[in-house]
Amino acid sequence: MGKDGQSRRPGATLSLIQKVRGTRDFFGADEALFARVESAALAAFRRYGIRQVRTPIFEETSLFTRSIGEETDIVSKEMYTFADRKGRSLSLRPEGTAPVVRFLIEEKIQITDTLKVFYLGPMFRYDRPQAGRYRQFHQFGIEYFGAASAAADAEVIAVGRSLLAKLGIESRTRLLLNSVGCPACRPAYMEKLQSFLRARSAELCEDCRGRIDANPLRCLDCKREACAKTYEESPKISSTLCDACRRHDETLKELLADAGIAFAAADRLVRGLDYYVRTVFEFVTSDLGAQDAVIAGGRYDGLVKSLGGPDVPATGFAGGIERLIELLKLNAPASDAQVSAGDVYLVSADSPELRRKAFRLTERLRSEGFSSVLPLLDGKSFKSQFRAADKSGARAVVILGEAESEKGCVSVKNMSSGEQVEIAEPDLPRLLETMGVPRS
Ligand SMILES: [Zn+2]
Ligand SMILES: [Zn+2]
Repeated sequence: MGKDGQSRRPGATLSLIQKVRGTRDFFGADEALFARVESAALAAFRRYGIRQVRTPIFEETSLFTRSIGEETDIVSKEMYTFADRKGRSLSLRPEGTAPVVRFLIEEKIQITDTLKVFYLGPMFRYDRPQAGRYRQFHQFGIEYFGAASAAADAEVIAVGRSLLAKLGIESRTRLLLNSVGCPACRPAYMEKLQSFLRARSAELCEDCRGRIDANPLRCLDCKREACAKTYEESPKISSTLCDACRRHDETLKELLADAGIAFAAADRLVRGLDYYVRTVFEFVTSDLGAQDAVIAGGRYDGLVKSLGGPDVPATGFAGGIERLIELLKLNAPASDAQVSAGDVYLVSADSPELRRKAFRLTERLRSEGFSSVLPLLDGKSFKSQFRAADKSGARAVVILGEAESEKGCVSVKNMSSGEQVEIAEPDLPRLLETMGVPRS
């Protein structure tokens, strides 16, 4: 017993330990949807030859302050930052790009053509918890390093589309596309935008007024209705793009059109982070209430260099697993009943000898690749084991009774047809196969 146990007065009630505010558990139907999103992502990434990189969940805080920027909400208000036992400032990762860039620089990864990597896992932000937003949330993302071409942006977008198509929710999303210019042409736009914002500042919210000097582009991202209405009249960045940015944007749009990827030009689409150049895009949905991005990304050519690495161009996206799960639920409401614990369910007479045999047989089925369940409680009647088998969603029930066992046989019930046959034990795997029970 630990310290807590010793100090507890006898008879005092234990307080119930609950999950931390803003976090959630995934089990049953929700977990099945989570796994579906993950496997669709893995399949889409494999199709495009993108390799996984697993970075730590925490990093030095300065990685994020330098990459994301001190003035952003993420860094100033939302990071889980703590001092470790040696007093070093560490932060739980609030997003996936900075750790991947840190890895690339630290390991001196040689980029000869294009390096394509993806990540997938939990991220952390101390945001105010609200419907659909969590303090531990899950993201996947891809990053392409080394290619400055519009084709790299087009391929990144195609990966996103491919993933949504795999999940069957492509039709619930729209692709919005914009160019935010480059260091050559953006300053001129910023000046135009700033003078517009100053002239109209009385109509803007406090947050937007605070951003006019430091980060005017972010204003365009404001979700407040009054601000959004004002920005309908703001100067358009498309009118101030330099020739190189304009060509990049046109080529990208041609490639997308050729590939049959529909998009809508979105003049005021910007990304929350400062490091984006040229292409920015979002796959958005209106099916979850307010219009919301499920996958968002763009080009961030200057980031690797700004973190002390070589001057390599980069483009990528990140996607939110929780929101995709919500979208999947709209397509086909999942229920726990659909999630079976195993394909084959063993029931046996309750004698030590037959239970021992059932254990051995179940292990054999598993080694043959069948997902199998054996009831682990002693003293259960045939009837109650059958009821459990029925409820479990198994495709086949294998029955081991005294009579069958003496002949070296088992009975197998096909749970969808109701048909039951008796066969010699060695033939069991073949029979299951003909019933369509999969092996893994
Ligand atoms: Zn430009
Ligand atoms: Zn605003």
